[in-house]
Amino acid sequence: MIEIEANKWKEECGVYGVYSHEDDVSEMTYLGLYALQHRGQESAGIAITDGAWMDVTRGMGLVNEVFRHQVPHMDNQCIAIGHVRYSTTGSSLLANTQPLIVNYAGGKMSLAHNGNLTNAAEIRHRLEQEGTIFQTSIDSEVFVNLIARSRKTSIEEKIIESLRQIKGAYCLTIMTEEKLIGVRDPQGFRPLCIGRLDDTWILSSESCGLDVVGAEFVRDVEPGEMVVISADGFQSYRFAVDEKRASCIFEYIYFARPDSVIDGQSVHDARFMMGRMLARESGRQADIVISVPDSGTAAATGYAFESGIPFTEGLIKNRYIGRTFIQPTQKKRDTAVKLKLNAIRSAVEGKSVVMVDDSIVRGTTSGKIVRMLRNAGAKEVHMCVSSPPIGYPCYYGIDTSVRKDLIAATKSVEEIRAFIGADSLHFLSLEGLKKSVPAVNADDMCYACFNSAYPIEQQQETAEGPDKYVFEQRKKC
Ligand code: SF4
Repeated sequence: MIEIEANKWKEECGVYGVYSHEDDVSEMTYLGLYALQHRGQESAGIAITDGAWMDVTRGMGLVNEVFRHQVPHMDNQCIAIGHVRYSTTGSSLLANTQPLIVNYAGGKMSLAHNGNLTNAAEIRHRLEQEGTIFQTSIDSEVFVNLIARSRKTSIEEKIIESLRQIKGAYCLTIMTEEKLIGVRDPQGFRPLCIGRLDDTWILSSESCGLDVVGAEFVRDVEPGEMVVISADGFQSYRFAVDEKRASCIFEYIYFARPDSVIDGQSVHDARFMMGRMLARESGRQADIVISVPDSGTAAATGYAFESGIPFTEGLIKNRYIGRTFIQPTQKKRDTAVKLKLNAIRSAVEGKSVVMVDDSIVRGTTSGKIVRMLRNAGAKEVHMCVSSPPIGYPCYYGIDTSVRKDLIAATKSVEEIRAFIGADSLHFLSLEGLKKSVPAVNADDMCYACFNSAYPIEQQQETAEGPDKYVFEQRKKC
């Protein structure tokens, strides 16, 4: 089976958390997960506590599928955390859903994780040698076991002691019977923000998860910061101060929702500026600018704004097939793209077209879309991409590809152009990309999938070699 969105990299998770003695915390978490659905469509879960009991509901599917009949509920519930996950197909998927929940000597704890740990295999091996039994194959369980085994007295100390052993990308929401805790890794790879609605506190991977419940944005959790919300109020701890910040630039290019603001930078504004920079750099003129919807649309409107070429809809996306799976024959792969996208003949026929997309991973879908436009009568198709060529895999929480499957790892720009059949192909430069996020310090970002400057040394090697991130063995089939 292949997924028809397979041409895009997938964010692996979104996390959420609510602390309140007034509002319905599980209902709010449900709404928050709905807003974060783009960060993971394979499974969803919500854990809740009333201060004594703790329960979790998890399942495979979209948020509204998992909680089709009922959102979890407890009388006097006061804390909830939630998780949406993307994973490729594999075994025991239900066992790998989150939030994780454990009983340990210190009480009950639930944890949800967005990211990927680069030394999880090493820690897991050590813990297993010492007798720890793991119940899932996800790296997130390493956190739970380290925290549960810690001999420190307070939960804050247990967590910080554990975090100091861990390397990689992680944003966590953690729930005890009394506390909601949020953590962002020292590099700040993935986003996590804090919101407030009267006396209710919210943690969310993105600010769109605050908007949906009417909460006010308070601030981002800083890299290397742990925030604790309890009856004592709000407390902040720094567990790392000297690490070089390396927030993921791809959140702005593709992963995050355009209505989110991450670390002070509007995602929409960043994409619009990427389109403007792309127009300046390419200088490509045409009759119309179109986007590959929806992720290329903000950049396409920026391209049109800068170039003065009119923007129009040239491709229509079917919005109701997000999780349709089809058999991997070539004919059906072509059908998959047609199921998702169709050209508007009257808009493109006889026209020279600039088509803007946010990225090219494998290049196969781009080629099909170019052919689709030509079949609809487009005179010329110029593909403009609002990010640099992706030549290297990601080890920090993305469903990454084997490097050889990244088209830019093995082909020059001209070879990629020939492969997709476009009349011309332009990628945004790394410098242009950096100028597109003026609200953040461009030197504090990760660009490793473009330039291989990995912020954290990769420690996991697998049978498939160091080019492939594999914690559990997962195959697309
Ligand atoms: S390698 Fe690319 S996708 Fe991964 S964290 Fe860095 S910028 Fe983001």
